[in-house]
Amino acid sequence: MAADNAQAIVIRTVPFSETSAVVTLFTREFGKLRALAKGAWRQKSAFDAALDLLSSCQVLVFRKSSDGLDLLAEARLESRFRVGSSLLAFHGGMYVAELLDVLTADADPQTELFDNAEKTLRELSDYDGHDDQIQTLVIRTELEMLRMAGHAPMLKGCAECGMLLENRGRTAFGMLDGGSLCIGCRRGKRSVVSVSTDAMQALLSLAESENSWRTLAVSDAIRGEMRAIMNTYFAHLVGRRLKIAPLLLSSLRSRKTRSS
Ligand SMILES: [Zn+2]
Repeated sequence: MAADNAQAIVIRTVPFSETSAVVTLFTREFGKLRALAKGAWRQKSAFDAALDLLSSCQVLVFRKSSDGLDLLAEARLESRFRVGSSLLAFHGGMYVAELLDVLTADADPQTELFDNAEKTLRELSDYDGHDDQIQTLVIRTELEMLRMAGHAPMLKGCAECGMLLENRGRTAFGMLDGGSLCIGCRRGKRSVVSVSTDAMQALLSLAESENSWRTLAVSDAIRGEMRAIMNTYFAHLVGRRLKIAPLLLSSLRSRKTRSS
């Protein structure tokens, strides 16, 4: 069995026996791997803090050729995810890990996806800015990840016939069809929601510009609407609600309650 070096993000850890762990890693070189880390939770472990959730690390892993678990031989911490003053930033980080898990198959390398996720985690680590920007950064990251996974929602044209949609009033958004629908194509479709013009414009701006999340000025209502659209879109894509998704939405709602 040959050992491989890889750059990895720790996206899940599950206890295995008293002192070991099964670690899910998203690696730049090999995609998602599940590896046994023997003695990971001993006080003097060879892995130290490298296997903390959302850490970036260099790993040495013995890859199994069959379906079994890989064996993690070494993990060296490169950067740890620091929880700063914003709980939402931590939830955002956890959500990125969940997206990596659900959007990829095992051992399917996706370098661009790795780089995108790592960049977002670096932004969210020890975050000391405004929570509004975390919401828009997370949506920007989701739209990028969807694009890389081949599931980018159509925001400009009709997802069914490709017709360019005129920007007037609300847009029909087909969750099962992958985006906007023209009047003709929306007939008889299931799981169609009506999206405001402002939310469509904001989504488009986040999808098209790398840095618009930093300056996008939208109301809490529009942020909430975008969050709800993304949650529903992923639920249809994956076949279930994502675990962290409600936490992102509830942070918007709890703020609304506090300010009213
Ligand atoms: Zn159409």
